[in-house]
Amino acid sequence: MPPHPETWLHPRPEGLHCVPGDFFIDPTRAVDRAVITHGHADHARPGHRHVLASAETLAIMRVRMGEARAGAAQQAAAPGEIVRINGVGVSLIPAGHVLGSCQVVLDYEGSRAVVSGDYKRRRDPTCAPFVPVNCDVFVTEATFGLPVFRHPDAAAEIAKLLHSMTIFPTRAHLVGAYGLGKAQRLIALLREAGYDAPIYLHGALQKLCDLYETLGVPLGDLRPATVADKDALKGAIVLAPPSAVADRWARRLDDPVVAVASGWMRVRQRAKASGVELPLVISDHADWDELLATVEDVAAPEIWVTHGAEAALLRQLSLMGRRGRALSLIGYGDEAEQE
Ligand SMILES: [Zn+2]
Ligand SMILES: [Zn+2]
Repeated sequence: MPPHPETWLHPRPEGLHCVPGDFFIDPTRAVDRAVITHGHADHARPGHRHVLASAETLAIMRVRMGEARAGAAQQAAAPGEIVRINGVGVSLIPAGHVLGSCQVVLDYEGSRAVVSGDYKRRRDPTCAPFVPVNCDVFVTEATFGLPVFRHPDAAAEIAKLLHSMTIFPTRAHLVGAYGLGKAQRLIALLREAGYDAPIYLHGALQKLCDLYETLGVPLGDLRPATVADKDALKGAIVLAPPSAVADRWARRLDDPVVAVASGWMRVRQRAKASGVELPLVISDHADWDELLATVEDVAAPEIWVTHGAEAALLRQLSLMGRRGRALSLIGYGDEAEQE
């Protein structure tokens, strides 16, 4: 009988540890051997000795932390390629979260666990879509694991932004969006909606937008906001990290319409409290319906929840006849980074 994944995959303070392979998935501190799902800072930490990840994730890590800190030895796995580590088959399958994001499929003596990393099921023109893989244990995030979280269609949120620009044609629209994934998805969705004017960027967003373009994701005419003529920003879209939207940086703009793109914008009080005039509910994480659909799609009898709102999800899983387990891993879901 194949060994149950709980005998060979253990939650540890550093993260999920594959015992026979002796590697960690998305470890929260520097380790000897790491498999990294994607480039967000809560999953991709600096200083590992050996890193296995998608080529895109490795490129993102090098841009964010520098060549030296992105891993002493870096090994890229192509989608679906099987890498053998001490008798464990490891393969990386797209997760649909940000460019290069992957689930980690682990096969050991006839038993299979899939570690999702962060994921979503909605279409995203900037990355490969999530591929469901049947498994014995599916390890999921639950950032939006409450029935109240049902993300609207992203294209409809983009339409809201474009509509606001017709109502306030002389005001800059300052949109808060995180630097890895959200900013590029927002730009790509605007381009898809037919918006081809220049989009102005806060300096912190430039490098990753450049990298996306290098890796084959076209983003159109992007210009630095900092050196732009004040008049050019009137009636334009300006993207900045959410922290910059709230601070001094935004004051260079004359009476901007302040927007933020995040799954958390579903929570009205949160939008209001942070002075957001135009909340855009655009998320790179699975919502409640996507979480449940994914559980069905991977046909796993058992689901482990790494982080997020797990109580409601665990209850729902038991109603669906699935065994659920809260891993309560610490150090993930830093909302300041990824949402
Ligand atoms: Zn993430
Ligand atoms: Zn995360």
